[in-house]
Amino acid sequence: MPEPPRGARNLVVVVLDSLRYDSWLAAPPSALSVLGEAQRRWSYASWTAPSHYNLLMGLLPHASPSHVYASEYYKRDFLRYTERLGVPDMEFKRLLPSMFLPTYLRHSLGYRTHARVSMPVLNPFTVINRDFDSYVLMPSHNDMAAIVDELRFEEDRPSFWLLNVGETHYPYAIPGESPDLPHISGVHGVFKQLDELGERGEEAAEFFDPARLRTLHERQITALEYLDGVFERMLARLPPNTWLIVTSDHGELFGEDGYFGHGPIAHEKVLEVPFVEGLIA
Ligand SMILES: [Zn+2]
Repeated sequence: MPEPPRGARNLVVVVLDSLRYDSWLAAPPSALSVLGEAQRRWSYASWTAPSHYNLLMGLLPHASPSHVYASEYYKRDFLRYTERLGVPDMEFKRLLPSMFLPTYLRHSLGYRTHARVSMPVLNPFTVINRDFDSYVLMPSHNDMAAIVDELRFEEDRPSFWLLNVGETHYPYAIPGESPDLPHISGVHGVFKQLDELGERGEEAAEFFDPARLRTLHERQITALEYLDGVFERMLARLPPNTWLIVTSDHGELFGEDGYFGHGPIAHEKVLEVPFVEGLIA
């Protein structure tokens, strides 16, 4: 393991799963006001797995500038890592050939690398778990506080933490709450049930009505309000010289143009996400 460059910063990336940009605007976490106002950005993918893979390549949700070559955008976006990591000479070519941030951070810069994920589709057996010192699927899909309890940092070595948070994902529930809402599977759950479903030929559940869809959007906003207190606890645990990024992996549809959720949906609202970042000094 290489000696880390002097002054290299911890990097903590918090992904609020499925959180829409306008949900953030409705309840911007006051604990995160130190990072400034959220930018409106765009996810590269409409659902969890490809979006996290993209993010672990180092490509965060993008700003979508017009009249700019993609190569130019990537260049600027990657150059920001010199500031994010506090490493002026990153030797970007060492990101090749894996083009995977945890690999680069661990093997080229001497970082510890950790992930705590809430969504089963990101479980440790997936290809995303590569070059992590620790990678855990949390026992509960909606308990960021339990994730925060696991954060640890070392004196002599910077750490990278990826936190995938589930309170903002359907059914938008805070820990201990069991809302009276139908179970809707993601890809992981569909695999689990597909064999039985094939035999039973089960009919699809009825689609949410407009009133329920509004309630669901409100539930996501309420979940974010709850997370404000968890963010406060998280900030108290972050050592100085930590770069913090808070964003989402994709948005969510709450009835716009007849859509609900995310995934196989081509709509602006499934890609629109909040993005804040900055140094916790
Ligand atoms: Zn997701």
